[in-house]
Amino acid sequence: MVLENSFEPCDFVLFGTQGDLARRKLLPSLYQLEKADLMHAETKVIGVARQDISQVEYVALVKENIEKFSKEELCQETWQRFSEKLDYVQVDMKNIDSYKAFKDHVDPKRMMVCYFATPPSIFGDICLGLKAAKIIDKSMRVVLEKPIGHDLASSKKINDQVAEFFDESQIYRIDHYLGKETVLNLIALRFANSIFATNWDHNCIDHVQISVAESVGIEGRWGYFDEAGQMRDMVQNHLLQILTLIAMEPPANLDADSIRDEKLKVLKSLRPINASNVRQNTVRGQYVGGFVKGQEVPGYLDEPDANTSSESETFIALKVELDNWRWAGVPFYLRTGKRLPNKTSEVNIFFKRQPHNLFKDSFPELPANKLTIRLQPDEGVEVTVMNKVPGLTGKSSMDLQKSKLNLSFSETFKDERIADAYEKLLLEVMLGNQALFVRRDEVEAAWKWVDGILAAWKNSNEPPEPYQAGTWGPVASIALLAREDRAWY
Ligand code: NDP
Repeated sequence: MVLENSFEPCDFVLFGTQGDLARRKLLPSLYQLEKADLMHAETKVIGVARQDISQVEYVALVKENIEKFSKEELCQETWQRFSEKLDYVQVDMKNIDSYKAFKDHVDPKRMMVCYFATPPSIFGDICLGLKAAKIIDKSMRVVLEKPIGHDLASSKKINDQVAEFFDESQIYRIDHYLGKETVLNLIALRFANSIFATNWDHNCIDHVQISVAESVGIEGRWGYFDEAGQMRDMVQNHLLQILTLIAMEPPANLDADSIRDEKLKVLKSLRPINASNVRQNTVRGQYVGGFVKGQEVPGYLDEPDANTSSESETFIALKVELDNWRWAGVPFYLRTGKRLPNKTSEVNIFFKRQPHNLFKDSFPELPANKLTIRLQPDEGVEVTVMNKVPGLTGKSSMDLQKSKLNLSFSETFKDERIADAYEKLLLEVMLGNQALFVRRDEVEAAWKWVDGILAAWKNSNEPPEPYQAGTWGPVASIALLAREDRAWY
């Protein structure tokens, strides 16, 4: 079914085609879809930017990007097909008159996808320009990049601007974590396996940890990052989306709205963190100089272009509670930061301990089972179990050892190429499936909760705690779990 639908031809219009995201991710992903025969022969990819370059120059630039950012050598046959789909229009997106040029490049009889890979501040201008050029219709789909605003009020403003021209059923809000195989696998793992489905609540689970660690700093994006901080950059979107997939109730089916209705309920049950509980439940840090993977790196305030009095956080640890039936009393600990020792993203589900220990002789403290979902690197799923040590001798007749049942995606699915998240999401847009995109009410519920924490931090007047680059954040992050007799995985 997927293949048949994907053969519907469309005009895929990429606003901001010369930007970092388009060059690094979107154009190489479209090329991969071409390679996998998932684009109709008549589909066109129309780049929009303000540079005055010719069609030939544009095609040469796209080729250069694909060669630079694809992990494999360019396939000449695919490139030939893909390059024939490329078109370029020069538009100043803030100037309504310049959209007239655009009209000659699209076919009003075909479905159009408009991907806004631009700063959100000009989403409204683009909509106005499209309207002025009289090319908006009901079959059109628009893709919005994150972040949608920097708080609830600004996110509503952007959503309102776009909603003036497009119905919610036409809007695809990207959170690229929702296109990652391992994140999608959370749905399969939970609802296709009774072993997990029946043990997925406060009766069986002690607590959950979600960690998204980056070893890089802010990679020259000081201006953007300093405005956002780690909370807006990572927690409001990626970490909360992962949390919703772990915590949601079984959806009625896999339709977009069935899934998004359940995710929304989770966001609505997030217990508010405000002035009364912000100190107990949150840790914010900012890195100072140190060593990451043996390399000396500067502190956040010593990065090029830094505002040396910035109090933006580059690390967050949170204790999150859900006020609902399934998760009463089960903390979700979230941790994310820059300049940590490794680039690694994991979900760890810690099950409750056995009520009675039969194996005291070899294991006075029987450890709890742990389910690990490795989002990156080495994507996979691992269950930590207790196992008898084989052999005739030992301290007792029942010596135990902690062992791992390990499913590594790269080994199990050797012949399958693991697609980039953007490939999956671009394909879903062309297919018209919104399940992997964030609905307006989800974005706003997430902002409402995040705004409460940001306000509490602001009112507390406490600066972020320093941590050395190359460590796992401030000591207070360890204490957040230690005072509840727990530890980060
Ligand atoms: P860039 O600043 O690199 O690119 C933005 C693009 O928009 C550029 O091509 C720029 O054109 C164009 N643009 C801006 N204003 C105008 C205008 N008035 N008229 C015509 N073109 C204009 O941003 P990114 O590619 O990094 O990000 C794009 C969006 O994606 C942002 O919303 C960002 O938050 C989001 N995003 C980016 C990620 C990334 O990894 N880069 C990751 C996740 C989200 P010009 O080249 O002429 O300046």
